[in-house]
Amino acid sequence: MKNRIKHFEDYRGVVDDAVLEEIREKAKAIQGATVAHVNATSYGGGVAEILDSFVLLMNDLGIRTDWRVLHGIPDFFEVTKKFHNALQGQELSFSEEELDLYKFINEKFARFAFLDHDYVIIHDPQPCALIRHIAHTSPWVWRCHIDITNPNPQAWAFMEPYIVEYDRMIVSSEIYKVPDLAIEQDIISPSIDPLSPKNMDLPDQVIEDYLTQYQIPTDKPIITQVSRFDPWKDPEGVLKVYERVKEQIDCRLIFVYNMASDDPEGVKILAKMTEVAKDYLDRGDVLFVRGDDPILVNVMQRISDVVIQKSTREGFGLVITEAMWKGTPVVASNVGGIPTQMVDGVTGYLLEPHDYDGFAEKIRALLEDKSLAQELGRQAKEHVRGHFLITGHLLDYIDLILSL
Ligand code: UDP
Repeated sequence: MKNRIKHFEDYRGVVDDAVLEEIREKAKAIQGATVAHVNATSYGGGVAEILDSFVLLMNDLGIRTDWRVLHGIPDFFEVTKKFHNALQGQELSFSEEELDLYKFINEKFARFAFLDHDYVIIHDPQPCALIRHIAHTSPWVWRCHIDITNPNPQAWAFMEPYIVEYDRMIVSSEIYKVPDLAIEQDIISPSIDPLSPKNMDLPDQVIEDYLTQYQIPTDKPIITQVSRFDPWKDPEGVLKVYERVKEQIDCRLIFVYNMASDDPEGVKILAKMTEVAKDYLDRGDVLFVRGDDPILVNVMQRISDVVIQKSTREGFGLVITEAMWKGTPVVASNVGGIPTQMVDGVTGYLLEPHDYDGFAEKIRALLEDKSLAQELGRQAKEHVRGHFLITGHLLDYIDLILSL
C-alpha cells in the first residue's frame, strides 16, 4: 500500500464528487500545457512534501508538469539558509562572496535547466534568481512559502529586484502580501494529501508494529513535535513547555525530526538539543525519533495525545494540518501561517510563542480531559477536509495558471 503511484480518481470517496468534477473540467483548458516547478530539495520540508504528490496528480490530469531541483553545494545551502532566516527577520548580514555564490549557482543551473515550459513556478528564495538568467516569454511565478512579514532589509533589498521580474508572487496568507510590491500577489494555501503514506488511515496492526519496531513506549501520555531541527521551530522552547507540564503530569516528549538536504542547520541544532535535554534523554522521558519513514510520522501524529508546534516564525506549518487531519489536538504558536489553519479553542489552541505557561496549561487540560481532546480533534479534521486537502490546492493552481 506504500509504494503505489497515485491517480486523481483515487480521491473519489475522500472528497466531494463535485470538487473532482470541477477540477477535471477546469484542467481540460490546460491539458497538454507544460508546467515546471523548481525548488531546492526533493526531500525534507513542506515544499518537497507537497510537490511529491502534487506533480503526479497534475500529470494525471493531462497537464505536463515537471519538477526540477536546483543543484546546490553545501556552501550555497549555508547562504540560502541564511537568506531563509534573514527573510524571516533574523539579524544577519551577507558578504560579497556569499552573494556571489548565490548568483553563480543560479546562473550555472540556468545554463542546463532549459526551463522553456509554458508556465514556470519557482519555489522559495534558493532558485529565485534563475529568472534573471533564462530568456522567456511565458509567465513565471514566484511561490514564497516562508514568513516574510518582517524581513531583514539587506536580504529583502537583494531579493526584491529578482522577485519583481516575476509575473506573479504567491504567498500562503494575506498577512504575507508585501505592500507596494511592483507585481501582483495572490494567496494559495498549502495542503496535505490524505492518501499519502504520511496521512492515510492506518490499520491498528500497522500502528502497533511500528511502535514495536521503533521502540516507542506508550506507558505515559505523549506530547510530540514533528519538525526539522530549526531555530524557528524552537525546540528548546518545546522542552521548557514540557518541563512545566511534567511538574503536574508524568508524560513523555517526543521530537520527531528529519534533515532536509538544503538545510545545514539541522545537525548543529540536534547536537545542541542532545546537550540541553541530556538528563531527560538519559531517563527516557524525552525521545528523539528520526522521522524519515512517512508511515512512522503518520503513526506518531496519530498516537500522540497532543501535538505541539512552538514555532516563533512559520510560513504555514504543514505538520499542523497533518496532525489535525488525524484528529489529534494541536497546541501551537499564534504566528505566521499557523492561525490561518487553526481556529483557537475550536480546532486547537493558539498561544503567543513565548507563553510557556500558557502552552503548558492548554496541554495539561487536553491530557486531563479526553473528551475535550477528542472534540477539538474531530473539529480539526473537518476543518482540514474543508480547506486544506490537495484537491483544493490543485484547483487553486489550475485557477492560477488560467489567470496568467
Ligand atoms: N517531516 C517528516 N519527518 C520529520 C519531520 C518533518 O516527514 O521527521 C515532514 C512533515 O511531516 C511535513 C514537512 O516535513 O510534511 C514539514 O513541513 P512544514 O511546513 O511543517 O515545515 P518546513 O519544514 O517546510 O518549515
